[in-house]
Amino acid sequence: MRWNARLEGMRAYEPGKTIAEVKREYGLDRIVKLASNENPFGCPPAASRYLKEMDLETALYPDGYSTALRSALAEKLGVSARQLLFGSGSDEIIVILARALLSQDDNTVAPWPSFPQYRHNARIEGAELREIPLKDNRHDLDSMLRAIDENTSIVWLCSPNNPTGGIIPDDELRAFISRVPEHVLVVVDNAYHEYASAVDYRDPVDLIDDFPNVIVLRTFSKAYGLAALRVGYAVGAEAVISKLEPVRSPFNTTVAGQGAALAALGGDEFIRECREKNERGKEQYVNFARKHGLDCPRSEANFVLMEIRGTADHVAAELLKRGFIVRSGDKLGTPGYIRITVGTEEDNEALLGALAEVLAHSVPGA
Ligand SMILES: *Cc1c(COP(=O)(O)O)cnc(C)c1O
Repeated sequence: MRWNARLEGMRAYEPGKTIAEVKREYGLDRIVKLASNENPFGCPPAASRYLKEMDLETALYPDGYSTALRSALAEKLGVSARQLLFGSGSDEIIVILARALLSQDDNTVAPWPSFPQYRHNARIEGAELREIPLKDNRHDLDSMLRAIDENTSIVWLCSPNNPTGGIIPDDELRAFISRVPEHVLVVVDNAYHEYASAVDYRDPVDLIDDFPNVIVLRTFSKAYGLAALRVGYAVGAEAVISKLEPVRSPFNTTVAGQGAALAALGGDEFIRECREKNERGKEQYVNFARKHGLDCPRSEANFVLMEIRGTADHVAAELLKRGFIVRSGDKLGTPGYIRITVGTEEDNEALLGALAEVLAHSVPGA
C-alpha cells in the first residue's frame, strides 16, 4: 500500500491502562486510576440527571452545528456564536488546527515537555517541529519567539501546562503575543482553566479581542467531568473560526455529548466545589513531598508532578501492582517524576501510603 511516508515509525497514542486491564493483569479488586486527569467527583448534577433521563432517538444524526450548546456557551463566555468551534474533545480541535494550517512547507513551535498531541499532529502533516524546552518549568517565551520565522504557522502554548502544571502569567502572555507576527496562529491550550487560581492568571479568552490571531482550547473532559462524551471547543475570532469550520467532520459531537455539556454549563457551584477539593488534595501531595524531601512544583491544574527516587517507570509499575494507575514521567518528558491526578481525599491518602512504601523499597536505606 502507498502509505504516507510521514507515518513511518509513528505509534498510536498510549493511554494510561484501563481499570479493567489492571484488575485482570494483577488480580486486584479495587483500582484507583489517577492517570488521565479526569474529575474524581464526576460531572455537574444537572448533567448526570440529563444523562439518566435522556430518551435518545438513536437513528437520527446530531445537530452538526451544536446550536443549543453553542448559543448557551457563547452567552456564558460573552462571545458571539460564530466565535466557537466544537470538536470531539479538544484533541480533535488540535487535529483540525494541524490539518488547516500545517504542511511540509510550514514549521510549528511548541513547548516541551507539554501535551504530546501538538508534536504528533505536526508530524502527521509533515511540518517542521521546533520544540522549545521549558526553562525552570515554565514556557521559555523568548526562545519560542526566536524560533518563529516567516514559515511558522502555529505556536502552541499550554496554560496550565500538562504535565508540569504551571501557567503563563497574563502580562508575559500579552507581551509575547504582541511580538508574534500576525500571520502566526497562537493556540492557548487551556484544558485546565477551571482549576487555575494563581494571582497572575487571567482568562485567556479575553486576549482574543486584542489579538485576533489567538485561539483558546477548552474541554468538558476535565473539570466538567464529561471525558467519556468527547466535547471540546475552541474560542477565536470569527475570521479564524470560519476558516476552521469546513475542516471538521460534519457530525463530530454526539447528541448525548451536546446535551450533557449544555446541562453542565449551569454547574458553577459544582466547579467551585471541585476546585476547592482539588486545592486541598494538592496540599496532601505537597505535604508528602516536603516530608520526604521530594520536589513537587506548584500545580494550577488537577494533577501534580511528584519527584521520585529511582526511575519513574519502575515506581509507576510498583504502584500499578498495588492497584494505583499513574503516569510515568519517562513517557511524558519528565524523567525522575510521576504525574498523579488529584483524586478524592481517601484515594490520595491511599496512593501516598503506597508511594511511601515503594520509595522505601526502591532506595536502599531510604
Ligand atoms: C486532556 C487534555 C486535552 C484533551 O482533552 P479532550 O478530552 O480531548 O478534550 C487537551 N489538552 C490538554 C493539555 C489536556 O491535558
